[in-house]
Amino acid sequence: MSRAEQMDTVTGAAAGTVDRHGTPATFASTDPAGGAVVGVFPVHDARAVQQTVDRARPAARRWAELGFDGRRQRLAAYRGHLARHLHELADLVHRENGKPRADAVLEISLTIEHLAWAAAHARRTLGPRRVRAGLLAADHAAYLEYQPLGVVGVIGPWNYPVFTPMGSIAYALAAGNAVVFKPSEHTPAVGAWLAAAWRAAVPDVADALQVVTGNGSTGAALCRAGVGKLAFTGSAPTGRKVMAACAETLTPVLMELGGKDAMIVDDDADVAAAADAAVWGAMSNAGQTCIGIERVYATSAVYDRFVAEVTERVRGLRPGSDDEAAYGPMTMASQTDVVRRHVADATSSGGRAVTGGTVEGGFVAPTVLLEVPETSAAVQEETFGPTLTITRVRDAEEALERTNATSYGLAGAVFSRSRARAMDLARRMRSGMTSVNSVLTFASVPALPFGGVGESGFGRIHGEDGLKEFTRARAITRRRFALPVDLMSFRRPPAAADALARLMGVVHGRHP
Ligand code: NDP
Repeated sequence: MSRAEQMDTVTGAAAGTVDRHGTPATFASTDPAGGAVVGVFPVHDARAVQQTVDRARPAARRWAELGFDGRRQRLAAYRGHLARHLHELADLVHRENGKPRADAVLEISLTIEHLAWAAAHARRTLGPRRVRAGLLAADHAAYLEYQPLGVVGVIGPWNYPVFTPMGSIAYALAAGNAVVFKPSEHTPAVGAWLAAAWRAAVPDVADALQVVTGNGSTGAALCRAGVGKLAFTGSAPTGRKVMAACAETLTPVLMELGGKDAMIVDDDADVAAAADAAVWGAMSNAGQTCIGIERVYATSAVYDRFVAEVTERVRGLRPGSDDEAAYGPMTMASQTDVVRRHVADATSSGGRAVTGGTVEGGFVAPTVLLEVPETSAAVQEETFGPTLTITRVRDAEEALERTNATSYGLAGAVFSRSRARAMDLARRMRSGMTSVNSVLTFASVPALPFGGVGESGFGRIHGEDGLKEFTRARAITRRRFALPVDLMSFRRPPAAADALARLMGVVHGRHP
């Protein structure tokens, strides 16, 4: 089959949405469960990426000129399209990423909610407003607004191939930017589908969302293509490379990196609810969740009960690719090596696996590890698999200390019946997001910002902060009338400085 014919095997409506730019190199995306080819895509080189970004520039201008109402209308058409084709997209996500269809439906539904929120709140968050000019500029009116950056580059991962990149794409579009999106080489068909859906739903500004496909070199080319900002989601090592490439052109970056999120289970927690949430937080999506729970610190008072509840629930989980399976295969085959290494490190350093610990094909059995030393890779490094360490601690303070002791700081969870205690622990957790008495919930609240600290990155998607992330603040003052004395003129009288000093004394000098 010729390369052009191969590329035509790209699923259904997605075919043709990826402009080939005459590129000869191709790659195939495959179903991680059975290895079937899902689609064949071009490996866009630096020239193709540059052409795409150049084509996005006039689209960015047109998109910005539409204003908040015009964009809101079109973003509504886009989310309407996603909602009407939800099962089609969920099926593609299932085939290309491996997750159960039901989980794909949940992922897409969350995305649609975010799209709606971003479009509905863009004007209020970013639109022009008047702010107080203050004492020294009382003769001026002061205005603030947040203007789009132009073309935003988005480099996305494969674990949530719709929800995660759309956390940047939806907010960047709502803020008035065009977007060039480079999906992971493991989920290009989903990326191409999202761009095809845009073209279908918003034909008058079709180039406001385009996709380039390929590998790391394609992503690196996007970093160097002169975009207004580069939003990256992936691992910390690749994040460093992206930052270095963006530094060459002083392109600002947003970094959503990995995590090693912990759950704290306090003395007074609802143990059954905590166990249920821990199992979902650790095992759903085969553990390939940046905000997944990878560690639990349970106090001595609840530890034994918690371990028993978790173990019982985990024994009922079965990985597979059918509709009844709890979770699918590892999307990236090489990830099984990371999981194996972490489990081996845990068990060889004194820990024990009470369930799982095995890998068959691309499927990792749900694995619960106890008594793992804090120095183990299974506790310190991102595993990104269906594994969970559970550690006994004296009290919640020790749990918090251990939670905060890794280089990551993305999210976490606290289980306690005391609202005040739980909120206090949540506030002191070294993370960008914390759920109390649940897991991952913050990601489903569009008004809440999403992002981490430390090795988990910086910058925020979602919420008002996520809208502002894709803008530059614009400050304007307008002189309303002329004061008798202009302090910022060489014509000011010599006595003006003394008068100003006296005024400062009256207004601020009374504070001890
Ligand atoms: P990477 O961080 O390597 O890749 C993320 C994205 O960056 C992909 O689109 C990738 O493209 C692209 N990329 C790779 N190299 C470059 C480069 N030099 N310049 C610009 N872009 C580049 O993650 P992987 O997918 O390889 O996964 C590795 C590990 O990262 C996982 O085991 C997991 O621990 C972590 N991870 C964390 C995620 C999170 O949500 N926090 C998401 C994904 C991964 P391509 O795929 O085409 O190589």
